[in-house]
Parts: sequence; structure tokens; C-alpha cells
Amino acid sequence: MKIAVVGAGLTGMSCARMLNEHAKVVLFEKGDVGGLASSHCTGTYCIEKFYHHCFKSDDVLIDLVRDLGLRIVWRVVRIGYAFDGRIYPLNTPVEILRYPQLSFVDKLKLALFTLKSRRRNYSKEDDRSVVDGIREELGENILRKFFMPLLKAKFGEEFERVSYAWLLARVAIRSNRKLNGEELGYVRRGFHELVKILADGLEIRREEVRRIEKVGGKFDVNGERFDAVVYTAPIPTLDDRIRREAGIPEIKYQSSVCALIGAEETITEDIYWTNVADSKIFGAIIEHTHFMPFEDYGEHIIYLASYSKSLFEKRNDELKKLYLKEAKRFGLDESSVNWIEIFKAKYSGPVYEVGYLKKITPYRTKIKGFYVAGMTSPPNYPERSMNGSVKAGFEVAEAVKKDFGL
Ligand SMILES: Cc1cc2nc3c(=O)[nH]c(=O)nc-3n(C[C@H](O)[C@H](O)[C@H](O)COP(=O)(O)OP(=O)(O)OC[C@H]3O[C@@H](n4cnc5c(N)ncnc54)[C@H](O)[C@@H]3O)c2cc1C
Repeated sequence: MKIAVVGAGLTGMSCARMLNEHAKVVLFEKGDVGGLASSHCTGTYCIEKFYHHCFKSDDVLIDLVRDLGLRIVWRVVRIGYAFDGRIYPLNTPVEILRYPQLSFVDKLKLALFTLKSRRRNYSKEDDRSVVDGIREELGENILRKFFMPLLKAKFGEEFERVSYAWLLARVAIRSNRKLNGEELGYVRRGFHELVKILADGLEIRREEVRRIEKVGGKFDVNGERFDAVVYTAPIPTLDDRIRREAGIPEIKYQSSVCALIGAEETITEDIYWTNVADSKIFGAIIEHTHFMPFEDYGEHIIYLASYSKSLFEKRNDELKKLYLKEAKRFGLDESSVNWIEIFKAKYSGPVYEVGYLKKITPYRTKIKGFYVAGMTSPPNYPERSMNGSVKAGFEVAEAVKKDFGL
């Protein structure tokens, strides 16, 4: 039995590791092993190209990390909200009460909305847009002053297409923060350690899959015969003909651009995550060394994150200038910057648009022996995550094992 797994991200590697014990598995990867969770290595340390942390509820990821002999460290992090070039911490009840953009009544409405979210049947709201839902339930001020900047930061130009169901589901899974802040986890020295161990022992072919053909009962992948194929790369990269034959709907993805900076200074004193309400360049500032110790790196690490399609099209040298100029508005002095890199992902996650719940992809497709898993699989709703991808990888491997009696 010979199986092709397309994509060596966390889904593909988790799937391949499980199937490897029962069949010959070839993993095809066109870019960096680890996919969206891959890292940039400076020579002294490795750091994710895109900020990464995990949550206490990430059960499958936590078990995998422990089973592979790694350790997750947990920290309560501070968050903030920036507008007009000023950053407001939003962690303790007092800080929240002091936040000037929302009235006391709006804050109360938001608190009740969050509390209620865990008991709601979000799927009923999948045909309503997030903008309509918030406007009707919480009012124009909360929409414009609070949610709209967050939605723009997360979905870029696509934010109006997002479904209200997604917001409700997302608020529900993130509503169990502690009174003094949210507890996040990280593999000390980086998720790079996890990627390295996962890849160990797998046969990884560093080539792009350009052709998949069904020939008799087998599959021809780049000219080589396989009994089954597990496709874990983003859906838009799949040949349209196969996608339709397999019964997979078209799924819209968003793009990401992240500036990763090594610097002598920080932007905030102690905030890990700052949502930026009024910047056209980045929607969040993530100060990694306010999460993990500065000593692990010997310099501060800052991400400036955007999910904008128009920025994605720009050249990296142009983006570096734009990001540094905008970061200055928040107090980052360019002379303190040791280095800056731009990382882009064309397919960084699905857009959870109106009607998305019907598009979540089951592992088995209409083509016998052809499977799909990854960011559009059930465990990756309402948020694609490392946990969701590892779980999808294991679950699709179980489906293959069952179907082929492995
Ligand atoms: C900016 C950003 C921040 C994030 N932060 C977090 C976080 O804090 N916590 C968290 O849990 N998750 C986070 N994530 C999400 C997490 O990284 C992803 O959910 C997860 O890594 C996806 O893994 P995957 O294997 O499903 O997909 P991918 O990582 O996209 O892997 C798919 C692989 O397929 C390859 N490929 C594509 N086409 C082909 C082809 N034709 N032939 C061969 N190979 C191909 C790609 O190169 C890629 O390596 C973040 C993602 C981004 C973009």
C-alpha cells in the first residue's frame, strides 16, 4: 500500500506519521516543511515566521507535544487596543472600565454578550453577515468602535463577507480567560522543535504536486503511482477538475503579511498582543518577548501582522519601509531595529463567509481513495489552528486506515 500526502504542514505531517506505521507514505512539499507553522532561523535562534501560541483547550496538540518529549510553557499575557497612536491596556476590570472608546453601557452589553455566547446555537446565524448581526444585537457604536477594527484586522478587505455564526462561535471558545488576562502556551525555543521531530523519519519529497490523475483504481501523482492520496494543501491549489469531481466546494482564502523584527527596544512596556484599530498597514502588534523571555533571544522580537490582499501584492522592500514608518507612530525607533523580514502567505486561512458551515470539508470525498484534510476540516472551525490541523491529520489518517483495512 502506497499513499501520497500532499503538503508537509502540521496536517500532512501528523497524517503521514500515523500512516507511516502501516504503509509506504510519500509526503510532497513545495515550500517550507511546517507550512504556516514554519520558522525563520537567525543563526542564533529560530522563531515562527508568523506569530504562534496555543490555548489550554488545544488538547490534541498538547498531548502530541508531551508525547514527543517537548514541554509547553504557559503564561498569562497582557493585551491592548490601540487607536490614535495610543495604546490602551485591556486586561483588568479597572483597565476595561477606563477604556474611553466605549460607554459603560456598551461595556456591560459586551460582557453579557460574551457570557451568553457559550450557550448559543451559533449555526442558526450562518446565513447572516457579522456586520448585520452585531449591528442588530449590540448597536452601531460597538460595531464601529470595537468589532469593525478587529474584523478588518483579521480578514482585511473580506471582513464584510464573514458570517455572524463565526463570530459567535469564536467568542464562545475564547470567553474563558482569567480575570487578570489570558493564559497562552508556547513550546520553549519555538514550535520549530515540534516541526523538526514530526518531520523526522518521514519521506519528504521537496516538489510541488502539479498533476493528480485517477488511472484505473490508482492515482498518478507527478508521474508516480499511489493507492490513495491525502490532500492537505489549501483547496484553491487543487486542480479544479478534481475538486469538482471530488465534490469539494470552492473556498475563499485570505492572505497574510507579517513583518518580523529583531530590535533593541520594545513598543509597549509589557503587552504581548495589541489590536490596532486605525492603521491601514497592520492590525496587530505582537511582542513575542513580552510572552517568552528576552534571554532566549538576546533581542526583542516583534511581529506586525496584516491580513490585507493589497499589501500582499506589494514588494518586500516597499513593505519593510511601510511597516517601519507605521511602527514609528507607535513609538518604535528605527535605529533600534536590528533586522526586519517580511513573510507572506497567500493561503493563510479560509474566509469564514456567510454560509461557510456548509463548506466545511469531510475527509472522504466523492473520489474513492482521495481524501482532503487541513484548514477547512471540521476541527478547524471556528478557528484554524495548530491543534485543529494536528487533529485533522490524525482523523484523516484514521479514515484511510479504516477504508483500506490497515
Ligand atoms: C499569521 C498566522 C498566525 C497564526 N497563529 C496561530 C496561532 O497563534 N496558534 C495556532 O494554533 N495557529 C496559528 N496559525 C494557524 C496555523 O499555523 C495553521 O492552522 C496550521 O499551521 C495549518 O497547517 P496545515 O498543514 O493545515 O496547512 P499549511 O500549513 O498551509 O500546510 C499546507 C502545505 O501544503 C504545501 N503545498 C501547497 N500546495 C502544494 C502543492 N501543490 N504541492 C506540494 N505542497 C503544496 C504548502 O507549502 C504548505 O506547506 C496562524 C497562521 C497564520 C497565517
